[in-house]
Amino acid sequence: MSVVAETVLTYLPPKRKTTPSGWLSFNAPCCHHNGHSADTRGRGGLITNPDGGVSFHCFNCGFKASWQPGRNFSHKMRRLLQWTGAPDDIINKVALEVMRENEGVEAREVIAQLPTFNTVPLPEDAIKITEAVDPGPHLIKVLEYMASRNLQLDDTDYYWSPSLGYRDRLIIPFYFEGRVVGWTGRSIVPDKKPKYLTEVQPGYVYGLDEQRHNKLFAILCEGQLDAIHIEGCALGGSEISDQQAMLLDRLQKEIIVVPDRDKSGSKLVERAIELGWSVSLPDWPKDINDIGDAVARYGRLYTLHSIAVHATESPLKIRLKAKKWFD
Ligand SMILES: [Zn+2]
Repeated sequence: MSVVAETVLTYLPPKRKTTPSGWLSFNAPCCHHNGHSADTRGRGGLITNPDGGVSFHCFNCGFKASWQPGRNFSHKMRRLLQWTGAPDDIINKVALEVMRENEGVEAREVIAQLPTFNTVPLPEDAIKITEAVDPGPHLIKVLEYMASRNLQLDDTDYYWSPSLGYRDRLIIPFYFEGRVVGWTGRSIVPDKKPKYLTEVQPGYVYGLDEQRHNKLFAILCEGQLDAIHIEGCALGGSEISDQQAMLLDRLQKEIIVVPDRDKSGSKLVERAIELGWSVSLPDWPKDINDIGDAVARYGRLYTLHSIAVHATESPLKIRLKAKKWFD
């Protein structure tokens, strides 16, 4: 038996029945996490396959999770184990074991394809805004801009540079595993071109370092400032490259895509469906075009909440909702 099947069986509720077709049935642990009332009628079903694979299906709330040898350990399997009460360190061990077993075949290929990022310098003379001793008129304008966009000094390490070309910009470093591997400088002067001066390496995803272990999902949006508001990730555009997808899948979390409300956003939705990710299109009024707008109107907490509750991975539901959302 595989380590995955063994672990799942260990933590399932002890009261189980076996059906003639080989399914174990028991009270499903998923339902109240999915907005349904708890199962008391044994509507959770689990079957193990001779090859070590395992499938779970809930006939109460519809939650499904499965694993087959050679495949990745999905965020749904992780969740199922968490809901059955398996401790996180056990789950992490299982996930690691799966990685190791796959190593000979897939994992080595994946690791070989994973992008690597060089450390790069920030623009010349850039200083952390919190360490500026004597903020002159330019930096004061930057601080005013931050306040107007609901950005807070402790969100991330915001930088500013007095050098020409940068002094009217808010500089956001791009971190990867704690190193600066790029940055963007957002103009604070309306209509100033270019709006962003950016140094970015191919395949980069903003905010990966913030997606810590205890988070169940990672919100993925287009712009870095939007990502900062909700501690999410940003593509830095409306397309998802294969390398970006790989880095995000490696988080082993549910990825919730929140597109901007424009034409490229609707393409992004199709790409998310293709990748098997969730999409969230909250019931925000039409004049709210992105997360930044929502935060300005409702604040960060409510915005985050409305993204989480409107997330779905059903392609049908996503497309129905997208029709209205992008209308
Ligand atoms: Zn259920």
